[in-house]
Amino acid sequence: MNINQKEEKSIGWNFDNTYASLSEKFYTKQDLNPVVSPSLVVLNNDLAESLGLNIKALNSLEGIAVLAGNIAPKGALPITQAYSGHQFGYFTMLGDGRALLLGEHITPGGNRFDIQLKGSGRTPFSRGGDGRAALGPMLREYIISEAMDGLGIPTTRSLAVVSTGEKIIRDTVLPGAILTRVAQSHIRFGTFQYISKYGSEEDLKELADYTIKRHFPSIENEKYKYILFLKEVIKRQAKLVAKWQVVGFIHGVMNTDNMLISGETIDYGPCAFMDTYDPETVFSSIDTYGRYAYGNQPTIAVWNLSRFAETLLPLIDDDIDEALKIANKAIADFSQIYDKLWKNGMRKKLGMLKEESEDESIIVELLSIMKKYKSDFTNTFRALTLGDLCEDDLFLSDEFKLWKEKWDSRLNKEEKSKEDILHLMKENNPAVIPRNHRVEEALDAAVTRGDYGVMDQLLKVLANPYEYSIQQKEYTTLPPKSNKPYRTFCGT
Ligand code: AMP
Ligand code: MG
Repeated sequence: MNINQKEEKSIGWNFDNTYASLSEKFYTKQDLNPVVSPSLVVLNNDLAESLGLNIKALNSLEGIAVLAGNIAPKGALPITQAYSGHQFGYFTMLGDGRALLLGEHITPGGNRFDIQLKGSGRTPFSRGGDGRAALGPMLREYIISEAMDGLGIPTTRSLAVVSTGEKIIRDTVLPGAILTRVAQSHIRFGTFQYISKYGSEEDLKELADYTIKRHFPSIENEKYKYILFLKEVIKRQAKLVAKWQVVGFIHGVMNTDNMLISGETIDYGPCAFMDTYDPETVFSSIDTYGRYAYGNQPTIAVWNLSRFAETLLPLIDDDIDEALKIANKAIADFSQIYDKLWKNGMRKKLGMLKEESEDESIIVELLSIMKKYKSDFTNTFRALTLGDLCEDDLFLSDEFKLWKEKWDSRLNKEEKSKEDILHLMKENNPAVIPRNHRVEEALDAAVTRGDYGVMDQLLKVLANPYEYSIQQKEYTTLPPKSNKPYRTFCGT
């Protein structure tokens, strides 16, 4: 069913469906799975406006019906996308088992965004699953993805969460919900793995050409465009993971199907921000061996990129050995690109813009004493920014005093005013992150009491994490000490 033209105009949807113009191997056309009683629980007004959508119309019955997957807006061509992936190292066929791509919305400024409903019901890729999602995890994705955007980290965005009025069965009975996800695209490393395994070289070329045109148009006409494509994807991953590391974000499930070619963060399942600094930090209940621990993320990015590069080999060179040599060289460059980005990010956190030979040791030494004194990652950098260095084992330690002398003399080399250094540090050290206990508190209020005020307040604070406002101060407090580590779950 389509909504009438008048309603359509007033919401502002402007769909195009280039992905659905690829061969049908890449997707299946999908009928809608309407829900009983949709109700809009969160709408991202700022994002809606930036997409050129009318907030009032989105709040109307028709607007909500679209966000619930009960009706398709005019111009949309709902599909589910096929993809595979390595999950914890093992290759599997996957695909959109509980998501539906409505189409690509073109903003008034001409930008193209995938509009995807997550939790929208069963599809041919659902296997044993119900195709649905629970309210808590969808709100969690909303909060953390928006916090990531506030932090300036490339990410898929969340436009809305609609509760479905239906119950879903997990370990317990939970309220169902649908999240509207907005992304540059949903083309994953796993999309390439899928076509490389199950398609022909022609199919692979079709996907690569489409992706290059959509995300890297400047290389479209280059002679060696496929290797340039690989290099661009490597650069974006390096940039992304460096940004994760400097704010202490742990993705938690860096499977190749959860890595986007566009370089945006996707799939906010078991992710969380680290409190105490420890490279071995793992939150996911199923990550028994710490494969996706904080300190492993750059290494895993290389592993994932290698799986992606393998899919491109037939396009890179007819001679497979030559192709392998070229791809290996590109992958080997990751660490240099990443190290530079990470070091620059860490330099800025310490108020340093110039490059000096001692920088790396200053950064590494600080991290090592932070680890020794079990310092809170975010609050340590916040305290260094504010010069508020008391009441903390780290700051009272002799190691820190020695380190601080080195840091002070390094800062003298900057030839910048104290104000400029403070400004740089504020811009690079978030005063607030979505701390796990705060997120849980907001979800609990919303899901168990229907009180969305706690979440609204949290979202406001997280929208400008570098603001250093008075309101933010109460969000910097740590959770009460617990002898049980915080655990996140994939069972979403
Ligand atoms: P994820 O863990 O969200 O990255 O999902 C891994 C795979 O499981 C994807 O193919 C999902 O579509 C699928 N999946 C996750 N949850 C469900 C569900 N409730 N019903 C059907 N498929 C699901
Ligand atoms: Mg996924």
